[in-house]
Amino acid sequence: MEETHLKEELKLFFETLQSPAHTRREVLDNVQKAIALIAEQWHVGRVAAALSAPESGFRAQISNMEGTLYQSVRPTGDDTVSINFRTGEGGTADIIFYAEEGYQWTEEERRELLIFGQTILGAFRLEMMDYLLRRTMPTDLSVSMQNIAGFMAHLGGMCARGTVANYIGFYFNTHNFKYVNKALTHQKADGVMRQYTAMLMQGLEKDECAARLGGDNFVAVIRKENAEAYIHRIGNIELVYQDGEKSRKFSFGATIGVSELENIHEPGEVMMRISSAYQAARQRDSKDVVYFSEEIHKELMRQKEIIAGFYRGIAKQEFEVYYQPKVNARERKLCGAEALIRWKRHGQMISPMEFIPILEKEGSICTLDFYVLDKVCELLSVRIRENRPVYTISVNFSKRHMENPHLAQEIVEVIDKYNVPHEYIEVELTESEDVKDYIVLANLIDELKAARVCASVDDFGTGYSSLNMLKMINTDILKIDKSFIPFGRDESDNQKDCIMFESILKLAKALGFRIVAEGVETEQQYTYMYEVGCDIIQGYYFDRPLPKDEFLQRLDSGQY
Ligand code: C2E
Ligand code: CA
Ligand code: CA
Repeated sequence: MEETHLKEELKLFFETLQSPAHTRREVLDNVQKAIALIAEQWHVGRVAAALSAPESGFRAQISNMEGTLYQSVRPTGDDTVSINFRTGEGGTADIIFYAEEGYQWTEEERRELLIFGQTILGAFRLEMMDYLLRRTMPTDLSVSMQNIAGFMAHLGGMCARGTVANYIGFYFNTHNFKYVNKALTHQKADGVMRQYTAMLMQGLEKDECAARLGGDNFVAVIRKENAEAYIHRIGNIELVYQDGEKSRKFSFGATIGVSELENIHEPGEVMMRISSAYQAARQRDSKDVVYFSEEIHKELMRQKEIIAGFYRGIAKQEFEVYYQPKVNARERKLCGAEALIRWKRHGQMISPMEFIPILEKEGSICTLDFYVLDKVCELLSVRIRENRPVYTISVNFSKRHMENPHLAQEIVEVIDKYNVPHEYIEVELTESEDVKDYIVLANLIDELKAARVCASVDDFGTGYSSLNMLKMINTDILKIDKSFIPFGRDESDNQKDCIMFESILKLAKALGFRIVAEGVETEQQYTYMYEVGCDIIQGYYFDRPLPKDEFLQRLDSGQY
């Protein structure tokens, strides 16, 4: 292995493990990200955490639990390295690395894995270990229902007998249980859960099985002929809970993943199919039922690969910032640029349209946006030091940052680290569907402005209630979405497009916004923009997003 890469990844691994974590969820997140960083290089197929408590301990009934911390897209082999540590009351905790199929670790790699494992164990306090296991290892004692172990054993029997193809597999998550937990005490909520699980099992045939994975996640295998009825049942469960004097009525729906089980030989394949179908159902934000298909599976694998490859990609400098010039329409002079991220993975370019939505859902987009900001500030600081022409460069900040109350401050810290005057950075923000978020957005923009950092609203017009937003926010710049630019390639009604565009432009200008038109590709579009008085233009007509070196040359000339 190359020395420098090794060092980089190790550094990142340790940094990630030590990055701030205030909640258990964050500790677990850090651990999982850190493992993903080293997994590929060290041929790790799976990493598990296990806890065994003594008979008398707080987990009297659960002896050996194992939860998954990392699972590669490749199959897992037999070689293992495990790190063991004694817990306070005489139990043990382990981190276990499983190699990729067919891979045998060298002695040196084993030593390195031991260090990783020890560091990971150190990152968990014992209490967290317990939490981790509850998150990753589905168990159930509070209701008399099978747990995952029971379910797997049941599937194992079906596979051995070769009857599994006669069944349909289910993986589902109950809606509204959160509400029950809020409305009732813990103990009472458990009572509701017991009633609920009883209803899931009611009338099952002996050869059918329903099990609780933990929380409000369930799995089941049901005979083909009963499957439709079961889908209907779990989608519409109503129960009455006797809360002392009061009787409370609850109704539950579910997000359901379903799969046929033809050509299956192992319980693991059943789990893979039903959990893929379930994840697809969840991502579609619908209460509908989703059936497993090869496409769904491929798509999920792709997503996992992107998420797992992200931190490594950062460490290995696979991400590159491109810059697309913005041009002053009247003077045909460069007046700024937008930073756009590119990911070159194994020599291939992956489109941001593909990986950004995935990272956005998962949350790593926040790291990526700050990475871009860092690179942009670095470029600006060099230009300023060399006394060369500089312009404001905009950086995209995902909606996901809206959850961060210190965002403005953190942005300013990065800019200050490079001693760049604040006005050279513009933050491009997008509106979200939720009107409540406008207040967050409006506050953020005010904070940025107070710090003299520019802010703009991106993709204007595509959001839910864009016009309402105009009243509430205090930004200077609106970027009108590409889809509103008239004379596009599609066969649209140009006259109507022009009316729309000019109305938006007029309204926005009257309210005092500066307008950037994005996606201007042709001479005709440029001339139109010039004539209707649009100030700033960004689009292929002038430039595509340029790699850094080409952009630097543009900055020096500045003319079109
Ligand atoms: P966006 O912010 O609306 O960025 C403009 C997109 O329009 C860019 O696509 C750009 O290459 C493309 N574009 C520019 N001029 C033209 C044109 O004349 N015609 C056409 N058809 N397209 C043009 P790109 O680079 O593929 O990025 C896609 C989206 O990915 C961006 O849309 C943005 O939402 C997101 N993105 C890119 N980089 C980042 C980033 O660093 N952070 C975040 N959060 N999002 C990013
Ligand atoms: Ca943008
Ligand atoms: Ca845009």
